[in-house]
Parts: sequence; structure tokens; C-alpha cells
Amino acid sequence: VKVLWNDQFVQEEDVKIGFEDRGYQFGDGIYEVIKIYNGDMFTAKEHIDRLYASADKIQLVIPYTKDVMHKMLHELIEMNELQDGQVYLQVTRGTSMRQHNFPVPAVESVLTAYTKETTRPHTQLENGVKACFVEDVRWLRCDIKSLNLLGNVLAKQEAVSKDCYEAVLHRGETITEGSSSNMYGIKDGVLYTHPVSNLMLNGITRQVILNCCEEVGLPVVEEAFTKAQALEMDEMIMSSTNAEVMPIISIDDKIIGTGKRGEWAEKLQLAFEKRIPTSVEA
Ligand code: PMP
Repeated sequence: VKVLWNDQFVQEEDVKIGFEDRGYQFGDGIYEVIKIYNGDMFTAKEHIDRLYASADKIQLVIPYTKDVMHKMLHELIEMNELQDGQVYLQVTRGTSMRQHNFPVPAVESVLTAYTKETTRPHTQLENGVKACFVEDVRWLRCDIKSLNLLGNVLAKQEAVSKDCYEAVLHRGETITEGSSSNMYGIKDGVLYTHPVSNLMLNGITRQVILNCCEEVGLPVVEEAFTKAQALEMDEMIMSSTNAEVMPIISIDDKIIGTGKRGEWAEKLQLAFEKRIPTSVEA
């Protein structure tokens, strides 16, 4: 198995990351996770566009064109003969003597990427998952897919410690997103989700789902909703590259809707599946 280190395909053991890599010291970098179905990257362009957008927002220069990046990732997947799984990639601001401000003179950023075999969460997709509320104490640039994930890590850990799959983050009463997902509520045949803003990451899966809503005839209102409203929804859903269209059946042990995967969730899952190449799946 090979990994990508800058523009080199090497064995993982041969990667040398600087002791003072700014990703390591400051979380000064950005990342993406791209799903691979049937040997193909799903929504690769959208993920790569978002990577470069995140880089721009932190004034990080990626020394490859998007095209080259796409080709290198594609090559990595082919090389590792990956059928179903994911590719993780990150770019840090490089290695330099520790100081908060950007390195002077500037140094090259450091790209690393690797593939991993994963299976789709079939059981959870069918049965739904439990969630819990966690106060969103992150910074005000959650639109950047930053390596700085401490707020997300602590939220997810709280969820897992409560035997939950995900944390439903809220700023005051308002739900923003999940610790590593976007959140949706469906009430009386309308889907609500937080509008794109600095308080959430505009998920690629979110963009696919909003598209699916059109297909299944589910009107979308991009408006934030509250914790109290979430508990009164007919259905709650979360989404991410790995979790896809995931039904949430309870929050803080309070049952949402029927306590089972809802009708809309199932319709959206089917519409989502039509968009992915799954012919190889059993
Ligand atoms: N919000 C956060 C905070 C995330 O970490 C993720 C997962 N990367 C998402 C939303 C969902 O994004 P995507 O659908 O692009 O995986």
C-alpha cells in the first residue's frame, strides 16, 4: 500500500514529517475526506474545490493545480486497487521554527494522502442512530475545513461516551450542525437545515441531499431551527461523506417521530444511492 507525500507515492514508513510541521504544532492546515465507491471517487470535484477554498481562506498555497491534485488522488486509488473506501488528504502550512505567524521566508506546504478500505454503514442507515445535544463552543470560522478539530473531537467524545453516534451541536438554542456532519429536520413535509454560513461546514453530502430533495419532491427551507423544534420534528437526519443520509431516531434519549427510520429518510437514501456507483455491493 502506497501513500501520497507531496507529489511522491511512497510506503507509509518512508514518509518523514517535520517535528515542527505546523499541522502537528498548530493544526495549521486543511483536509478532505472523499468516498470511493466501486473504485471511483464520489463528488471529487466538489471536495477538491472545497479544499482549495479552505486553503484560500487561511492564505495557504497548495503548489499543485486542482487537476494535478485530482490526478494524483486518482493514481493513489488505482495503485492501491481500492474498490470501496475513502481517501483522506491534508495540507499543512509546512515545517518551520515554531512561531504563530506564518513562516518567513515562506515554506512549501506539506501534502499527505492515504486510502482506507471502509464499508457503508448499512445497519445504521436502516435502523437509524442515537444522538445527543452538545453546546457548540467552536470558533466562528466553521466554514473552513481546518485540521483544528478539538471542538469537534470533544463533542464527538461526549456523544460516544453517552452511547450516541453523533453530537447535535447548538449555539444557544440554535442547531448549527453535527460534530462531523450536517443536520436536517423534516416537519410536515418540509426539510429544514442551517443555511450556509461561517457557523457550519457546507457538506458535500448536504449539497447532494438538497439535490435529492428536489427529486423526491421534498421542499427545502435553509433556515436554522432550535433544539426544541428538533425534538418536535417528524424526522431528523444527519449527513456526511461516510454516514451518507443517516436517520437520527433519538436525541438525549427523546424519541424523534416514530423512533424508526422515517419515510423521507428512506426516500432520500434511495435517491442518494442512485447517484453513487454501487454495482459491486452485495
Ligand atoms: N460538518 C462538519 C463539521 C464535518 O466535519 C463534516 C464532515 N467532513 C460535515 C459537516 C459533512 O461534510 P461532508 O458531507 O462534505 O462530508
